[in-house]
Amino acid sequence: MCDYCASHGGKLRWYLNPENYSDRFLDDKKRMKILYDITGWGIDQYLDHATKLSKKAKIPILGGLVRKIGNYIVPNKHSGQVVNLRDAFKIVDLADNLCILDCVCRKNIRGSKEGVCINFGPIKELFQKLKPSEKIEVITPNEAKDLIKKSDKRGFYHQVLYAKLPYPVVLCNCDSNSCTAYKLRFNFGIERGMMKGHEVGILDEKKCDGCEYQKAPLCLHYCQFGAIKWNSNERIIQIDKNMCFGCGLCVTHCPKGAISLQKRINFPEIKQMW
Ligand code: SF4
Ligand code: SF4
Repeated sequence: MCDYCASHGGKLRWYLNPENYSDRFLDDKKRMKILYDITGWGIDQYLDHATKLSKKAKIPILGGLVRKIGNYIVPNKHSGQVVNLRDAFKIVDLADNLCILDCVCRKNIRGSKEGVCINFGPIKELFQKLKPSEKIEVITPNEAKDLIKKSDKRGFYHQVLYAKLPYPVVLCNCDSNSCTAYKLRFNFGIERGMMKGHEVGILDEKKCDGCEYQKAPLCLHYCQFGAIKWNSNERIIQIDKNMCFGCGLCVTHCPKGAISLQKRINFPEIKQMW
């Protein structure tokens, strides 16, 4: 298990532990400040801080220290972990006050508006209070699952975000071009910005036909983490378990059912790699 689960999961994954959705977490003033920031106009300042921290993480020598500090402070702020489709469904069943808001990462990075972030807990009430003129769509768990399923088909991975661990507040459907968390990890080396998920994709070579009738291997096309390599001589793919985030997009899109998700902890070489 990851250290988030060790500290906050009981015997479950931290985001599947019903206790972590309790309102008692709202008594924490620091958490409330984060919730106000990420829900209200403070989000711009919040993203600005993340960008500044990230830039410093690239400076030679000093960058190592900045990354260490970043990894230390992120769990006390706002970030998350990749989850597979099945866990994403379980999260919306555990959460209450589901609502869709436009994705702030897409707005910030690409200037586009897209309602793909499922928010829950106190966010709805806070958003209505802080941004009364902005659009908010209240949804049922089934509508949330439909959005997650459609996003999965579109090639968006799912990530559960906390407002100070272990309190989950958002299930986002994102892509590597837009996602601030992805950039924190991949562009600037702050791993806690986006933790790997609990599974890895494993190939059943007997079932893979190299997407013979497709223009390109579909799993390769949909993997946003660089974990899949194409062996053109043997016309087969290989999955690098070290690089796999367990998002499951390759599983969804493989027409042959050749990839399954298996628990990270069953593979000694990667079980501590989050
Ligand atoms: S190999 Fe599959 S499960 Fe792993 S990161 Fe790529 S798409 Fe996701
Ligand atoms: S999508 Fe499935 S069949 Fe196609 S290359 Fe990947 S594993 Fe093989």
